[in-house]
Amino acid sequence: MLKMLVLFVAALALWQVGSWKREAALDSLQESSRQELRRYVLHLQGQLEKYEFLPVVLASNKRLVHLLLNPGDRERIEALNLYLETLNKLTGTSDTYLMDAEGLTIAASNWATERPFVGRNFSYRPYFQEAMKGHLGRYFALGTTSNKRGYYFAYPVRWEQKILGAVVIKINMAPIEESWKDAQNELLVTDPDGVVFITTNKGWRYKTLNRLQPEVLERIRESRRYGDETLETLPVARRESRGRNAHVVRIDEGRGYDYLEQEESMPHAGWHVHILARLDQVNSEVLNALVFAALLLLAIFLLAMFWMQRRDRLRENAIFERKAKEMLEIRVREQTRDITEANIRLTREIEQHRRTESELQQTQNELIQSAKLALIGQMSTGISHELNQPLAAIRSYADNALTLYRRDRHKEVEWNLAQISELTERMAQISTQLKMFARKTAGKKSRVSVTEVIEDSLRLLSSRIKATRIIWKPPERPLHVFANMVQMEQVLVNLIGNAIEAVDGSPNPIVSIEVKTGSDGKTVCIAIRDNGEGIPDDLLERIFDPFFTTKEKGKGLGLGLSISMRIVDAMDGRLTAQNHPGGGALFTLALPATAPSEASIKLAAHTYSEAT
Ligand code: ADP
Repeated sequence: MLKMLVLFVAALALWQVGSWKREAALDSLQESSRQELRRYVLHLQGQLEKYEFLPVVLASNKRLVHLLLNPGDRERIEALNLYLETLNKLTGTSDTYLMDAEGLTIAASNWATERPFVGRNFSYRPYFQEAMKGHLGRYFALGTTSNKRGYYFAYPVRWEQKILGAVVIKINMAPIEESWKDAQNELLVTDPDGVVFITTNKGWRYKTLNRLQPEVLERIRESRRYGDETLETLPVARRESRGRNAHVVRIDEGRGYDYLEQEESMPHAGWHVHILARLDQVNSEVLNALVFAALLLLAIFLLAMFWMQRRDRLRENAIFERKAKEMLEIRVREQTRDITEANIRLTREIEQHRRTESELQQTQNELIQSAKLALIGQMSTGISHELNQPLAAIRSYADNALTLYRRDRHKEVEWNLAQISELTERMAQISTQLKMFARKTAGKKSRVSVTEVIEDSLRLLSSRIKATRIIWKPPERPLHVFANMVQMEQVLVNLIGNAIEAVDGSPNPIVSIEVKTGSDGKTVCIAIRDNGEGIPDDLLERIFDPFFTTKEKGKGLGLGLSISMRIVDAMDGRLTAQNHPGGGALFTLALPATAPSEASIKLAAHTYSEAT
């Protein structure tokens, strides 16, 4: 739709430019050709006026009057013939002759030529008739004798108010036409009937500008003005009027041309002079203007296209940038939201973690508590077992002593009493251990002898050892660790107790305890190995979990190792479990080492010297 509109506007603009240019070029052509026409009209008028006075002057010549008064006078005729011949030569006219009142030529300048006028009657010529009426006769015609185009001036020759005849001069028009041949445009002169008789275009000579009526043609033929010429009509078509006496016409003689035609009349001669300027120049100027305007329009169109494309591109860029910005903002908002959500989640998780931590702490405390209770339960079983045995033994020793005393077997009474004393000593030891357990020493660390703690632990476990062979060789040089003795003992009782249980029922139950300094010298390692079935590989990870147990219901709580691990951690130590390549489980307890005290070194040295 827009394209159609642009095309329409462009076509309209071109049409307007074309018509402006044509109008301007036509105006300029009209002006220049009008001036040219004016020049030629003046030239023609000048040519005619030059001869106009000649017959008037001649008419007053006495020779002419005398001859007309005496028409048969031979001498006079010859004399006048010569006179007229000379005059004709001098004035440059074509012919000069004298006619009597009947129209008969009685003397002529061409008396000596092949076809002289003398003796010929031209009374039918209008110029003669006009002169006989007493006026200056003017006429244009093709000479009937000479067949030359001539302009005639005739004037009456009077004698005492009477018109005796007429003197005529004839001007040859051919030289005038000849002098016009260099004109820029086509020129033509027409008579009152519109017959062209002088023209720069020979083809138009004796043609009519308008179609003549048959009676007019007849009249012309009768006047013999144009001899035997056929007087065809020139195919002129008026296209456009451009003011008075100016038209755009088309003359189509096979190949048609457009002309700007202007005319000017010569009233005295009764002629019309026409100038026809070809429109080729105008057309080429219009074409040039159209080409220029079309190029200009094309340039404007291209510029507009370029500008529109640029504007579209800028708009697209702006949209793209805005979209990119919006997307960026959305992404930033999303990321901010994600981060905020993640932050909230993290805060919640931290909160939950804290809560879990404190719950875990609480659970662990509870676990420790229940482990302690379990341990107390275990211990009380052990204690009651331990105490019941010596009590039963003491009772039987006391009964024996009483019986032996009654029989006065004092020596044996003494032995039995000694046994009782020994047993009470052992019971006192058990109670000491119980006290130690009950004492609130958790958390307080001190320098502890590894050998002592192991032996105390074995003592506590003595009731459970039964058939198990304990391989325990204290280190030659006493080793000390920095730990809480009661807690360390608790851990060892647990580990050794588990080992004893693991070998329970096997044909050759052995539990070995070995102590050595760590490779870095800063730790003391206690390795407890048994020759039981070991720990299945998939359970190795889980045995330190609270409540993990493989023992039958009622026999194990699964708390021992978890409590031990926590205690060891608190003492900056390490507790690990593995299966020994030679079979059975191997638990290693590593604790920070401390240097032995002076006293213990001395004691050790003393023991050593005694032994050696
Ligand atoms: P409980 O002794 O009450 O089962 P623990 O925490 O002391 O609890 O031990 C957890 C588990 O570790 C045991 O049930 C047992 O399966 C395994 N275990 C511990 N010590 C040994 C060992 N010396 N030999 C084989 N398995 C062991």
